[in-house]
Amino acid sequence: MTKKIAVVTGGNRGLGFETSKLLAEKGFLVLLTSRDSALGEKAAKKLGDNVIYHQLDVTDEDDINNLAHFIKKTYGKLHVLVNNAGIFLKNNSKTNITKTDIEIIKDSMETNVYGPIRLMQALIPLIDKDGRIVNVSSGMGCLSEMEGGHHGYRISKTALNAATKIFSQEVKNGIKINAVCPGWCKTRMGGRSATRSAEKGAEGIVWLATLPKSGPTGGFFRDKKRIKW
Ligand code: NAP
Repeated sequence: MTKKIAVVTGGNRGLGFETSKLLAEKGFLVLLTSRDSALGEKAAKKLGDNVIYHQLDVTDEDDINNLAHFIKKTYGKLHVLVNNAGIFLKNNSKTNITKTDIEIIKDSMETNVYGPIRLMQALIPLIDKDGRIVNVSSGMGCLSEMEGGHHGYRISKTALNAATKIFSQEVKNGIKINAVCPGWCKTRMGGRSATRSAEKGAEGIVWLATLPKSGPTGGFFRDKKRIKW
């Protein structure tokens, strides 16, 4: 296998789909993953031979272990992990944090934080020393501009940023681990009023997934520029 292997979570639509497309165009063999097999298979088919489907619910430990086993058995190693899958639970947007249902925060953490952490733990042993990990975060997780509302989402993305920084400090084998805010993009999550296309949002993700050896690690970026945590 001469192609580099990339895993993208939540690849069936939105930014994950566009990221899979761009990585495949750059010559990667992309494992497009999604929790729903029918949706994922359909998405992978649209993207051609450089994209292979694999089932993965990022909240399911068995799915994560199965994916790691499949990569080890089939390819021996991995080059890129894009932790893109995410949820934005909207029903607490007008509730004061003193009344937010704790389940909203727990569910947000499960998908947006524990999923990426579990995946990094399971896949880093397989990632090549020149590998790249991109955690798709959000400006809504920046402590430097933290506002109210959307508590589960904000708290989970701040925690994902912390995990990014800690992994980048403690994983010392050359893998570059960064977080990215894709900007406000027209996807099911971003909605129709969003100011940029999903393709444009995916560009910043793919930039971090294909950084040169001299590139940064342990940073938070938007539009290829470092932003404050
Ligand atoms: P989207 O269109 O809602 O897509 C989210 C993707 O995540 C879907 O493929 C969804 O799968 C998947 N997903 C959710 N829970 C999952 C789970 N447990 N296991 C596996 N996949 C799961 O959203 P998007 O805008 O493309 O968002 C992608 C990432 O960008 C997210 O992390 C989001 O927080 C971040 N982001 C987006 C924006 C924006 O403006 N769009 C801005 C900042 C950050 P299903 O189809 O099965 O639900």
